[in-house]
Amino acid sequence: MHSLLEAIRTIPDFPEPGIQFKDITPILSDPKLLRRTLDLLAEPYREARIDKVIGIESRGFIFGAMLAEVLDAGFIPIRKKGKLPAKTVSISYDLEYGSDTIEMHADAILSGDRVLIHDDVIATGGTAAAAAGLVSLGHGDVVGYSFLAELEALNGRGRLPEGIPVESILKF
Ligand code: AMP
Repeated sequence: MHSLLEAIRTIPDFPEPGIQFKDITPILSDPKLLRRTLDLLAEPYREARIDKVIGIESRGFIFGAMLAEVLDAGFIPIRKKGKLPAKTVSISYDLEYGSDTIEMHADAILSGDRVLIHDDVIATGGTAAAAAGLVSLGHGDVVGYSFLAELEALNGRGRLPEGIPVESILKF
């Protein structure tokens, strides 16, 4: 666990002054850390009968797709506005730096699908809360949240619905 924590690189003032950016790329480039991270992310949800894993653009795609494979689930990308080619549902929200709109293909979730939402970092929780809103629009059930890193001072998990597990491997 120590080496994972040390592998995350904090880049000050990126992409804007005042942001302490958590860079996960040193974990991705190390095969042992990559495997360990995937195991830790998957562990809490192995018996959760997940139908779909959602990965949030763009760093959420990396472990999101791997998680889907190991949990025997499908993968759904949530993307920034205008990137998905077919009919979409969309939600606008505030984030740590600026505001944004995210979209998901309207037919990606089947009614009653058990959905796990994954991203690399939870900061204010706005993005994950918006992703949960998209799942609701698609009539799926969010059964868990999965993050590699959590910025605890921002209390992002406080913005997520109560009673649904929120797992993060590394707390900052
Ligand atoms: P939030 O909606 O505030 O929870 O922000 C989460 C989204 O912004 C995720 O997609 C993160 O990848 C990105 N993000 C926010 N703050 C940081 C940070 N300090 N380091 C890396 N990524 C961040």
